[in-house]
Amino acid sequence: MSNQSQQCVIAKFGGTSVADYQAMSNSANIVLNNPNVKVVVLSASAGITNLLVALAEGREPEVRKQHIAKIQNIQYNILEQLPENPHLREEIDHAINSIASLSEAASLATSPALTDELVSYGELMSSRLFVEVLKQKNKQAIWFDVRKVMRTDNKFGKAVPKIEEIKQLCCAHLKSLNTQHIIVTQGFIGSESSGKTTTLGRGGSDYTAALLGEALNATQIDIWTDVAGIFTTDPRIASNAKRIDEITFAEAAEMATFGAKVLHPATLVPAVRSNIPVFVGSSKAPDEGGTIVYSANSIKSELPLFRAVALRRKQTLLTLHSLNMLHAQGFLANVFAILAKHNISVDLVTTSEVSIALTIDTTGTSTDGCSLLTKELLDELTSLCNVEVQEDLALVAIIGNNLTTIKGMAKKVFDPLEQFSIRLSCYGASTHNICFLVKSNDADSIVNLLHQSLFE
Ligand code: ADP
Ligand code: ASP
Ligand code: MG
Repeated sequence: MSNQSQQCVIAKFGGTSVADYQAMSNSANIVLNNPNVKVVVLSASAGITNLLVALAEGREPEVRKQHIAKIQNIQYNILEQLPENPHLREEIDHAINSIASLSEAASLATSPALTDELVSYGELMSSRLFVEVLKQKNKQAIWFDVRKVMRTDNKFGKAVPKIEEIKQLCCAHLKSLNTQHIIVTQGFIGSESSGKTTTLGRGGSDYTAALLGEALNATQIDIWTDVAGIFTTDPRIASNAKRIDEITFAEAAEMATFGAKVLHPATLVPAVRSNIPVFVGSSKAPDEGGTIVYSANSIKSELPLFRAVALRRKQTLLTLHSLNMLHAQGFLANVFAILAKHNISVDLVTTSEVSIALTIDTTGTSTDGCSLLTKELLDELTSLCNVEVQEDLALVAIIGNNLTTIKGMAKKVFDPLEQFSIRLSCYGASTHNICFLVKSNDADSIVNLLHQSLFE
């Protein structure tokens, strides 16, 4: 790895790619087939993070027992396909015992730090098992605790990586490791300066792979998942979605930001910064190929006007209305100051003379959007204006290039949606997207109709 002229690929496998023994075995074959893979970054086996998050919220003893049994079952089923290794079984049992005691603690008093410590066991266990799957295939691998290098701040649950420290720590702890051995490590988890475990937010393993890729001067970051690339929309929603063979960083980042779950929204930030191509493919069907994401000047085909449709569920709409706004100055500034004080990140905004409508993204929170809107925040806003809160909304985004130059945009985009009501729309701020809010129940039909009219 220290030789930079060598190819260095970081391969990340998501939850379904390490869900059971067969999935791990497919993923291990991908690693074996590419001698350039130097570091493997893993998610927890599918389902485990959700169970751990539920345990971290505090559960009754009986429910705790059931959840822990499910976790144990998923990991034991993998263990049983591996050569007998009492030491490994002990390690998994030790992790399960820690999960049990931390879950008990969480049922008494939960905290974001405790949650992160608890959920980290998902990635810690899957990575440990994967080392053995590789060894079973005669490939020597080193298990590496990513918390040694993945330094973050202490915003538990959504920690922010410290890029320079990560680079230095990777130099000190990772680059010197034996280059003959593959390094197997965890996605999603990190540690703050005093050593406590943090996490990068749900789906954060993609981001880990990109951060390590940047720190190690990787030549490519491979994201192996359950779909053979990035599609024109979520193939689970629209069966006619088509694979995009190559896409620019900017387009893919826009898709990820607007809900294309195939990439965590922050994944492309390090990749763009360091100009590292990102490949997305299916670990079940590696021969089907995938999507390559790189800079606009590497793209061979012409950039299309419409690239994709993305969908983000769980959106909350706040409508603020005040007659005092009429010809007044500073009203918007006051509203945004209150939101900032309460750490609310505003997503879309539209304004008229006496009203402001804004959306808050609550994906990634386990509860509904209302929990972000505390009584204190709503009281403060109400002292300034009328406040209306609406939930059960979804954000649909059309991603493309030079979208503000289209003639007849309204007809193209809104004609197919004539039987639906559109609650809010944003067009013009960015040339890369047009987005609007719709009722959650209408979202899938709308994505299908838009996909049909723009891509089929
Ligand atoms: P992993 O566990 O491997 O990280 P994720 O579930 O996070 O996998 O991401 C893969 C999923 O992303 C797919 O199963 C698919 O349903 C969803 N997805 C959403 N939008 C897209 C898109 N435009 N192209 C491909 N997949 C998408
Ligand atoms: N295991 C974590 C999650 O489910 C991180 C990831 O899979 O990327 O959110
Ligand atoms: Mg993911």
